[in-house]
Amino acid sequence: MLNFTVGPVMSNDKVRAIGAEQVPYFRTQEFSEVMFENERLVKKFSNATKDSKVVFLTCSGSGAMEAAIMNTLNKNDKALVINGGSFGQRFVELLKLHEIPFTEIKMEHGKALKPEHLAPYEGKGYTAFLLQKHETSTGVHYDIDLVSSFCKRNGCFLIVDTISSFLTDSFDMEALGADIMITGSQKALACPPGIAVMVLSPSALIRIANSKSCCQYFDLKLALCNQERGQTPWTPAVSVLLQINERLKEIDAEGGVQVEINHVARMASYFRNKLREYRLPFEIVSESLSNAVTPLHPTTQSAYEIFLKLKNEYGIWICPNGGDMKDTIFRVGHLGDLKEKDYDKLIKAFVDLKNKQFI
Ligand SMILES: *Cc1c(COP(=O)(O)O)cnc(C)c1O
Repeated sequence: MLNFTVGPVMSNDKVRAIGAEQVPYFRTQEFSEVMFENERLVKKFSNATKDSKVVFLTCSGSGAMEAAIMNTLNKNDKALVINGGSFGQRFVELLKLHEIPFTEIKMEHGKALKPEHLAPYEGKGYTAFLLQKHETSTGVHYDIDLVSSFCKRNGCFLIVDTISSFLTDSFDMEALGADIMITGSQKALACPPGIAVMVLSPSALIRIANSKSCCQYFDLKLALCNQERGQTPWTPAVSVLLQINERLKEIDAEGGVQVEINHVARMASYFRNKLREYRLPFEIVSESLSNAVTPLHPTTQSAYEIFLKLKNEYGIWICPNGGDMKDTIFRVGHLGDLKEKDYDKLIKAFVDLKNKQFI
């Protein structure tokens, strides 16, 4: 199996070996040390301020998106949210569900964020801003500097979903003045699914302390007070936390977050150059690409049919899209344990499909 989806992605051998071991009991000093190390390295790689905190929730990334909203926003807020695809839509639905007043900035699929998108909301009393740094469904990497300066000018609390862009594109929490950063174990961390990671700024900690949580399991006050001793309120996905620890230490030992980002960037440009070299009938549909994903519109065949063909006949997984993008867009991911030779195999399969006039 060769997996180019956007998560779960391919894990390296050391990470997989941890998954094969017995799961240790976790209310121990040893496990607490692992959790402290995870917190320290996540803070380092996101450039969070010293007084920021990290929590590890046992849920997928979406759980942390919901926890962020439940624990830091309330009916007195007035939120702005970028909606450029499935994940932006998820924020919109969560804001509705939790009855947070908001305005949606609806982005056309594939389009970059420009100053004119934000200009109408300047000085209008907005208190919070939510966005995906990288909208994975359409492969659009939004201009986070633009959003950050808007938030600084307008005093907005900034919640950033970096679920697919943490470790693939740079993110400097302190410079951006971001208040919450969210990621998940199965994207660029390249571990199995099961853990969502949240980095919380001092202002986020104040909002959490003052919030009246409507849910026990996702009450971040409990998560924070347990993380003080390297623990979680409930049994976590212990193995995944150990796997995350392995990955974070590897990245650190290999030179840190920029080296990791450079690797992902190299994979992305290797693949994009090959696409041009072999004149494959695919158009890149995003105006603003991240390193994480290449979103493609096939001009001669349904995207979903190409996904099925590669999966069933070549043992290769590309990432299909859902909803109204099912037939028009597929994505090729650059996350996880992938090398140039893996992209050579994928390109070979595409060329084969072209020769057979399937595409
Ligand atoms: C994958 C992803 C999510 C959802 O994460 P789950 O782990 O599937 O809940 C949210 N936002 C972005 C940008 C993603 O890429």
